[in-house]
Amino acid sequence: MRIYNTLTKKIEEFIPYDKNNVTLYTCGPTVYHFAHIGNLRTYIFEDILEKGLEYLGYKVKRCMNITDVGHMSSDADTGEDKMIKGAIRENKTVYEIADFYTKAFFDDCKKLNIQRPTIVEKASEQIDMYIKMIKKLLKEDYAYISNGNVYFDISKAKNYYQLSGKNPDELIIGARDDVELDKYKRNPYDFGLWFTDSKFENQAMRWDSPWGIGYPGWHIECSGISIKYLGEHLDIHCGGVDNIFPHHTNEIAQSEAYLGHKWCNYWLHGEHLNDATGKMSKSKGEFLTVSLLESKGYDPLTYRFFCLQSHYRNQLVFSYDALEIANNTYVKLKNKIKKIKENTNGDVDKKVIDIYQTKFKEAIENDLNTSLMLTCLYDILKENVNNTTKLEIIKSYDQVLSLDLLKDKTKEVNQELVNYIEEQVEKRNLAKQDKNYELADKIRKELEEKNIIIKDTREGTIYEVR
Ligand code: AMP
Ligand code: ZN
Repeated sequence: MRIYNTLTKKIEEFIPYDKNNVTLYTCGPTVYHFAHIGNLRTYIFEDILEKGLEYLGYKVKRCMNITDVGHMSSDADTGEDKMIKGAIRENKTVYEIADFYTKAFFDDCKKLNIQRPTIVEKASEQIDMYIKMIKKLLKEDYAYISNGNVYFDISKAKNYYQLSGKNPDELIIGARDDVELDKYKRNPYDFGLWFTDSKFENQAMRWDSPWGIGYPGWHIECSGISIKYLGEHLDIHCGGVDNIFPHHTNEIAQSEAYLGHKWCNYWLHGEHLNDATGKMSKSKGEFLTVSLLESKGYDPLTYRFFCLQSHYRNQLVFSYDALEIANNTYVKLKNKIKKIKENTNGDVDKKVIDIYQTKFKEAIENDLNTSLMLTCLYDILKENVNNTTKLEIIKSYDQVLSLDLLKDKTKEVNQELVNYIEEQVEKRNLAKQDKNYELADKIRKELEEKNIIIKDTREGTIYEVR
């Protein structure tokens, strides 16, 4: 498999430590609010990665944390504690907030066919592991105590700027957003490993430690949980691009200082989903959730399909118009498959299956090219082979795509309308083939009068009912 590695900024051949077994760590949600569909784009990418690796024959052990403590509202370890913010907003305890939004997160994942990782661990459950690590970091002089808090000294880390590719001088200029905290640090980008000097009187989650009662910094949780469950050598670590700095940068610094050797070989990052106003954020107040899409009549899997149409390393802009187009393409696709399912004939053609599985594997191996995976799917629909064979291939693709391609649609589909549109589209395509553009235009206009807008794309003609 060839995959883009943020660490080397290159597409590389993926070689796991242990030939057939892959360890995969994916940063989990901060459970102070619902996940927005941007967050879920990252989890869809990671789900495809996990299932894609399995399709290639690897056994994947995946671990994810649930951030229920320590994540500040600013990524530079400053600002308010996100969990406390949620608790105050909803007049609940941080534990109630964490439980509620953890459940909501997994409900959303289920709706999007995102598989639950083999291991899921709450940040608040591994305090002993962080204490063990911090003790060693202090002993070996990677960390220091200042004003009751323990900080990691980034000047001691090897290649601190490799992952982010940032220029240290620029960073220092930008680092002045919490002078209060910075004055206790040797370098403004040193980060907290353990806080006893909480700025929050109502800090609910607190534990005893050799440095006093307090709580861990945000970054140590992922290093601790990953090393604990996946061992000292990690194959792949993922997250969204916003995690590259400082979160993943700091994870590398403290993990490699603690272990005394290289930790993770491949760092994969999903690009953001943006809305028309720019960056999507949970703290903005109003934000797009899976439930909101459902309330507008969309099957959540339409959103998964929408995400799979573009590559995980490209930014994606969300709009209802774009989702509507994806919805029509998805419905049309499922209808085609339904017809195949209802008309199976003949025996499985093993040779064709081999060819198509190889093509699909190549798409996975091509830096997880999901739109190419969808192209394989469209190709088999058009292939001159019996429906039994087509169905077998579709079933195998859906192990990765997870679009419920063989399940009948749960949402109401106006089959009569769909049939009519498909007939007209077909007629128009034939007219175009015959260079009868007058007729083709006439069909398009007639459809438009019925509020059916058609568009020609690489995947064929798609339509939108307004
Ligand atoms: P959080 O719950 O804020 O810790 O974020 C959960 C995951 O979502 C992380 O991997 C982030 O990198 C990712 N993420 C945050 N914002 C976006 C976005 N707009 N688009 C895609 N992924 C995002
Ligand atoms: Zn993390």
